[in-house]
Amino acid sequence: MLLDVSRALRNPGEVFPFEHHERIAPQDISGEQVTFDEPVLLEGRFSMSGNDLTLEGVLTATAHSRCCNCLGPAQVSLKVPFREVFTRMDRGWENPEDDPDRWVFSGSKVELEHLALTLALLELPIRILCKPDCEGYKQMAPQYAVSQKNNPFSVLQDLLKNDQNDQEV
Ligand SMILES: [Zn+2]
Repeated sequence: MLLDVSRALRNPGEVFPFEHHERIAPQDISGEQVTFDEPVLLEGRFSMSGNDLTLEGVLTATAHSRCCNCLGPAQVSLKVPFREVFTRMDRGWENPEDDPDRWVFSGSKVELEHLALTLALLELPIRILCKPDCEGYKQMAPQYAVSQKNNPFSVLQDLLKNDQNDQEV
């Protein structure tokens, strides 16, 4: 979604606070679906200097996925500080030597969806757990297998577990 920075364009050097609501579409990460509560919040301040808009603050988001250990629902709270520079590129003005990875904007509005996605994904743990000491693996261990033998879901869970192990290799 777009953040209106026209105030900063009119007043270079002046710092303006902002609070921006963003959304992050569901992501497929190593075969696991990760969804984000709405809104993803970006708050902080921005200022303009020359063609550069500096945006700094904190991204707050809640991600949902499946616990690596027990396959139950897992939630991750993210708070990601950021400081990024967006360069104003007016329509028709292109520099082929420009770094394609740099953040740019045109006009008086800045698209922040891609920034929010990048910040959130970099902060997500590689192994998402429902709680830090989830004992899902222990429950899957052979010594517990007897009690699960008559549980039709245990077969399904084993399949899912194997599937997941394959993907981690
Ligand atoms: Zn778990």
